[in-house]
Amino acid sequence: MSTPDLLPCPFCGGKASLRSWAPRGRVRAYYAVCSTCMAMSADYRDEVLLEVAWNRRADSESEEMPDD
Ligand SMILES: [Zn+2]
Repeated sequence: MSTPDLLPCPFCGGKASLRSWAPRGRVRAYYAVCSTCMAMSADYRDEVLLEVAWNRRADSESEEMPDD
């Protein structure tokens, strides 16, 4: 299993970790969480989508992100 390269947290620059969980009866979901400020991404259905979304957010702090 490969580990995506997650950029540092866009809020505090802390280390981001990949996490996953499996809601009962649903597909496994992946998200990123900052180990310093506990900022969390949304849930994604695979690691690559999560990595892309997190890294884009980390790249462009000024970009508006829908918050749901
Ligand atoms: Zn952080």
